[in-house]
Amino acid sequence: MSDFWDTKIEFLKGMGAQRASLLNKELNIFYYRDLIEYYPFRHEDRTRVYAVAELEADMPVVQVRGQITTWETVGEGTKKRLVARFTDGSAAMELLWFKGIQWQMKNLAFGIDYLVFGKPQFFNGKFSIVHPEIEPIASLEVQTGFLQPVYNMTELMKIKFVSSKILGKMVKSLLDICEPHLIENLPAYILQKHKLIPRAQAVQNIHFPASPALLKSAKDRLKFEELFFLQLRILKKQRNQKKDFQGHVFSKSGLLTDFYNNHLPFELTGAQKRVVKEVFKDMTTGKQMNRLIQGDVGSGKTMVAFLAMLIAISNDTQVCMVAPTEILAEQHFEGLKVFTDKMGLTIDLLTGSTTNRNRRIMHERLMNGNLKILIGTHAIFEDKVQFENLGLCVIDEQHRFGVAQRSKLWQKNTIPPHILVMTATPIPRTLAMTVYGDLDVSVIDEMPAGRKPIITAHRYESHRLRVFGFIAEEVKKGRQVYMVYPLIEESEKLAYKNLMEGHESVSRAFPNLHLSVMHGQMSSVDKDFEMQRFKRGETNIMVATTVIEVGVNVPNASVMVIENAERFGLSQLHQLRGRVGRGAEQSYCILMTDYKLSQDSVVRLDTMVKTNNGFEIAEIDLKLRGPGDLMGTQQSGILDLLLADLVKDGDLLQLARETAGEVLDQDTNLELDINAPIRDWVTTHQKNENFWSRIS
Ligand code: ADP
Ligand code: MG
Repeated sequence: MSDFWDTKIEFLKGMGAQRASLLNKELNIFYYRDLIEYYPFRHEDRTRVYAVAELEADMPVVQVRGQITTWETVGEGTKKRLVARFTDGSAAMELLWFKGIQWQMKNLAFGIDYLVFGKPQFFNGKFSIVHPEIEPIASLEVQTGFLQPVYNMTELMKIKFVSSKILGKMVKSLLDICEPHLIENLPAYILQKHKLIPRAQAVQNIHFPASPALLKSAKDRLKFEELFFLQLRILKKQRNQKKDFQGHVFSKSGLLTDFYNNHLPFELTGAQKRVVKEVFKDMTTGKQMNRLIQGDVGSGKTMVAFLAMLIAISNDTQVCMVAPTEILAEQHFEGLKVFTDKMGLTIDLLTGSTTNRNRRIMHERLMNGNLKILIGTHAIFEDKVQFENLGLCVIDEQHRFGVAQRSKLWQKNTIPPHILVMTATPIPRTLAMTVYGDLDVSVIDEMPAGRKPIITAHRYESHRLRVFGFIAEEVKKGRQVYMVYPLIEESEKLAYKNLMEGHESVSRAFPNLHLSVMHGQMSSVDKDFEMQRFKRGETNIMVATTVIEVGVNVPNASVMVIENAERFGLSQLHQLRGRVGRGAEQSYCILMTDYKLSQDSVVRLDTMVKTNNGFEIAEIDLKLRGPGDLMGTQQSGILDLLLADLVKDGDLLQLARETAGEVLDQDTNLELDINAPIRDWVTTHQKNENFWSRIS
């Protein structure tokens, strides 16, 4: 069945051994199946021919038609280049080659018409094209269709004269013979329902579209297929896992009732209540909980985690909570200790700074069950740390922990602990389901009452005096201020505001105020010392790098000044802003920048000024950056998608997921005749390591 697609490309008509080996080495294309899946990254309309006189700077690739009048080589060594003068009667321009000069000189000729294709550059008062695609008109075949595929080619291939056009010819000769082997992998009822074109037609048209409409249909069909099989696999795994992993059943809630009645410091928000219910429900099913709580900065995730901990401890198990930094771990420890002391529960802190002596004591108390709550950094993951009976593990700010690390925790117990992951990096729901395929998702989408939305402003360097004036006023009212800088060391080439320089200018501007300084190169003891001073209100301004980014909580701090704000990503800006607005006072975020801003920077800054909504910000951020930067996607391998884009194709993703879910609901093991195309495809491709190993 699959033998056709396993044919080596050197057997393709017109390929030849040399080209084949180039394609092997440069593009990883070995077999027919690789070549057919080497989709063009765009198509070009080759019907339009420009006059040289029409060219303008900043034009994308264009096509011109004319003759070569002279050529010469200029320069020496690496600077040596071939310069040809080209004219079409309207004006003249230059064609340049830095490589393959000998070969070009042999092949160029006067007096014949060429079709030249490339990106025009305007330099020294004239237009030129470097390494153009050039072909004599006479040898041109009759153009097929008007949309020509453009394939990604490497530098070496260009030097060896295997152009996108030549690759297109190879693909074409494969398309001519592969039709009978393009087997449909989606059932007719799915094609009909979602108006998808047949697979064979889609593959033809994604390379050589018969019309723009068919190109779109081809892309939609192939993207859907890709997302459908991805979702099918994720859903199947998810359903299996839910069956497979046994979990503690927590039925008692004594401590929770005690806490509610006697110690709860505030009314829970509706969203907190809802998520707490979802968590408790998970804990009674007898299956292991794997839940992700998404909630914007300040939405109160810690309290939800603590309530879950109380349930676990009520049922005679221990709990742990893992934070990404020591500062955060300490903060959680101190925050929770206030409650646990009142309730007579044991709690301790394990970080990289914990002494060996204290570690030994801690290990012992964990093993004999005397220590109920362990807060810490990834030090908790070490094999030496063993529990008598671990019931729940909370992981704060998940994006710093990979899937592999999470699963390490399971091995700490015969019954795997329930897992609660918390993140303030909200991602759109459909994407979350894909990225964290093995996690259920809860969302805290409501802020505690009485919070005033943070006012955000964008200010230029020329406003600095006024910004400083504002800071002075806020400090006079008793507030505290963060000033955040993007870099510690002054970069040699770029004149970033250096943290120390900043510190100096701030101390000059505010000679009577107390400053703290904090950066990543300080020891954690020193960092902690500064943080504590700031928390206690002994310093007015915290001058820092992004070490304060995640989770740090100083309710009295009401102003966040971000220097060189254009240097930060959108999510990071939002995280930083979340450090203020934690108390009852009106808070402010001031984004300081230069006048010169890229278009993306402008979008980021405008978005920050316009909204406080983390989900809205996450969507825009993803559109700007793509999901490649999203933590977690690396491990799950979903970035290997050929065509689909998890952000831009959100609707298709949703549709594919729903469809895959429906198929599995109706036919869990793909046994029905109508689903034979799916079954056959999955079975043949399960054997094909290439396909399945890279996504599992
Ligand atoms: P995050 O979700 O960013 O981790 P935290 O859990 O640190 O947020 O909570 C931020 C602040 O809000 C804390 O000071 C916390 O005590 C407070 N808080 C949490 N829930 C509520 C609530 N329902 N009402 C009032 N304040 C709350
Ligand atoms: Mg938090």
